[in-house]
Amino acid sequence: MAQARALLGYLLLGLGLALPGDPAGRFWHVTDLHLDPTYHITDDHTKVCNSSKGANASNPGPFGDVLCDAPYRLILSAFDFIKNSGQEASFMIWTGDSPPHVPVPELSTDAVVKVIANMTVTIQSFFPNLQVFPTLGNHDYWPQDQLPIATSQVYDAVADLWKAWLDEEALSTLRKAGFYSQKVPGNPNLRIVSLNTNLYYGPNAVTLNQTDPAHQFEWLENTLTSSQQNKEKVFLIAHVPVGYLPQSTGITAVRQYYNERLVALLRRYSAVVAGQFYGHMHRDSLMVLSDGEGRPVSSLFVSPAVTPVRNVLEKETNNPGVRLFQYNPGDYTLLDMLQYYLNLTEANLKGESNWKLEYSLTQTYGVGDLRPQSLYGLAKQFATPDSKQFVKYYNYFFVSYDSSVVCDEKCKALQICAIMNLDRASYSGCLQQHLGERRP
Ligand SMILES: [Zn+2]
Ligand SMILES: [Zn+2]
Repeated sequence: MAQARALLGYLLLGLGLALPGDPAGRFWHVTDLHLDPTYHITDDHTKVCNSSKGANASNPGPFGDVLCDAPYRLILSAFDFIKNSGQEASFMIWTGDSPPHVPVPELSTDAVVKVIANMTVTIQSFFPNLQVFPTLGNHDYWPQDQLPIATSQVYDAVADLWKAWLDEEALSTLRKAGFYSQKVPGNPNLRIVSLNTNLYYGPNAVTLNQTDPAHQFEWLENTLTSSQQNKEKVFLIAHVPVGYLPQSTGITAVRQYYNERLVALLRRYSAVVAGQFYGHMHRDSLMVLSDGEGRPVSSLFVSPAVTPVRNVLEKETNNPGVRLFQYNPGDYTLLDMLQYYLNLTEANLKGESNWKLEYSLTQTYGVGDLRPQSLYGLAKQFATPDSKQFVKYYNYFFVSYDSSVVCDEKCKALQICAIMNLDRASYSGCLQQHLGERRP
């Protein structure tokens, strides 16, 4: 009987179907490691880490400090937790930003490549047999944010570093302009598309006034068209997300022109794209893309960072986090997301790292799965006055860093509008409705 079931499961999998009750597929998402190699405990708190930029570290311990980027020990504790979690994942996505936040003159191309190499070797030593899909972040370049539209020393170096993970075709586009696509081994008809959205990032002066830097839009459209024809599903990964910043009024994460273009493309191919996964924001957030008629068509997940760093002027930050996704191995719908975190204060106090489950998305919110319709329904609940669901969401936004944090009416409107509206017209309509402001 078990054998017959296994055989049936195998045959169904070949057809892109799964048996009910079959084990879910799993993958890890880690992002924004931001290693600070200078981190060390010393009495002079201005000298704990270069990433505090001369400010006093607040309460430095073995696993880090909120004014510093990640000590190596924190990063090791994250991968050690993943390795010993007992969760069998078939791959990992790693969405960039390995170097520390320090002034440009304190780094160099060599220093940046060294940090990326260090993180690559670290991941490979923990998971020698795991398929990893990396993307570059805006900090994975020197000078930071200026990722180019043609071959560069950094693109070349990462293409060499990531040879064990990527195939020839992926390495060749990575070398040219920092993006690639590749099928996922062991997952029939599943493709990872790794976009270089740093080309669309506001501070990138290289791409100013370009309509299609490195012809990435053209490549993306061709890639998604061919996936559609081949009946593939796509998980789209990138560093800088599409959509609006949830803590600002009317500011997109990438330049507005590129955002409009990306949103239009993602709407057109929403039947192919089974999920979108981003980093860069360092906070935990959700977005739901709707089509022109307001119907939810795509689920987007922005993962919190491993680094706990905050700016001296900021009040809140995030605890270190890593996450696991579960998906249906037959059709690649997303079933659940498990967010894990380290309570940094507690870890420093005890001198040991106790990574724990922060929440399961389906369980904490009582939703059936992570499909666009489900997340849309959840976002509607968030939007209701005094929503307890939203109070949870806002605590998770900072990875349970400060459960007393309160989001006032304007703060909440900005969050809701950013979750539910990714294009300019619908976003400004949302602000109008909630705040009576027409022009962001
Ligand atoms: Zn970052
Ligand atoms: Zn970034």
